[in-house]
Amino acid sequence: MIYFDNASTTSVIREAADVAIKAMCGEFGNPSSLHAMGISAELEVKKARLAIADVLGCDGDEIVFTSCGTESNNLAIFGAAERSGRRRHMITTSFEHPSVLNAAKKLEERGYDVTYVEPRADGLVHAEDVATAVRDDTFLVSVMSVNNEVGSVMDIRAIASAVRAKKSDVLIHTDAVQAFLKLPMNVNRLGVDIISVSGHKIHAPKGVGALYIRRGVRLAPQLCGGGQERGMRSGTESVPLIAAFGEAVKRASESCMSDMERISHLRKKISDGIECLENAHVIQPQNPAPHIISVAFTKYPSEVSMRILEESGIYVSSGSACSRGKKSHVMRALRVSDKLLGSIVRISLSRFSTEAEAEAFLEVVKNKLV
Ligand code: PLP
Repeated sequence: MIYFDNASTTSVIREAADVAIKAMCGEFGNPSSLHAMGISAELEVKKARLAIADVLGCDGDEIVFTSCGTESNNLAIFGAAERSGRRRHMITTSFEHPSVLNAAKKLEERGYDVTYVEPRADGLVHAEDVATAVRDDTFLVSVMSVNNEVGSVMDIRAIASAVRAKKSDVLIHTDAVQAFLKLPMNVNRLGVDIISVSGHKIHAPKGVGALYIRRGVRLAPQLCGGGQERGMRSGTESVPLIAAFGEAVKRASESCMSDMERISHLRKKISDGIECLENAHVIQPQNPAPHIISVAFTKYPSEVSMRILEESGIYVSSGSACSRGKKSHVMRALRVSDKLLGSIVRISLSRFSTEAEAEAFLEVVKNKLV
């Protein structure tokens, strides 16, 4: 089996599963309990918080655990909107993940104005275009770090600095679900206020995410309850999932740079191997992330190519798994022709992908898809 659908989800590493089991069956206390078992659970949560903070270059108390990347994005957007006072304008892009786009649409229904900045033909959202959209009543800019379908990497640092040059008190959020542990992400270097990440994209279990909230930034909590996570996200913390998330982050961060160099090399090998074939076209953004390649195999519709690959034990996805067969807004924004649009598959690698898998994949493509 060759699993090349890691942008949809990843396998859970054994070490992360082990700490989850320990937190479920052994030290299963509630972190809010004042006895020893509660304190030990609280320590596990703290350890995970510090592991994430370490990667982002922030303090542990700037990390809030959530149930997924979607919840993190919702908390960032609705939480900022509820605290925006009379300011009613948000900027995002037309090719965000649905957890940002649909939250923005919901704000429009509630009477907010949203500007959707288009990526240019190079697949990137440009800082000038975002800055041009800033108005006196803009309260939030939300631009994803890495696009989940084509893998283009946005220059979030340039975007944040261009926005701040125009208006210093706009909150800047980035959905970094596809960027976390794939690219260097230091909060101070990036100059952002809020960052969303998700566990299951980095070999932790599904059902856990986190939000970095810069100290001093005020977001309205979206769940009412016992005031866990410094009041930002009520509900008893899922210690097993959080501990597993922390473990996966710790393990990945130990070799992140060298892993990503290797993955970039694999990406290049695959895209070079496909580019020279007839009936195949790599959708090549200007600045690609190391782990995502979108390819149109023009002989077949996406679903057929997917099935042909699956018959050979290879798993990829048709566009983004999140868009559930709808024509991709990302490819439309990139002005990919209708002819190619229906035949795109997304190949996504993880730090465990190998050279041998890339070679086997290319062989199947050559023999069965083109
Ligand atoms: N943002 C991006 C860019 C994603 O790719 C995804 C998932 O694919 C999400 C947000 C949602 O994350 P989750 O599945 O943890 O809700």
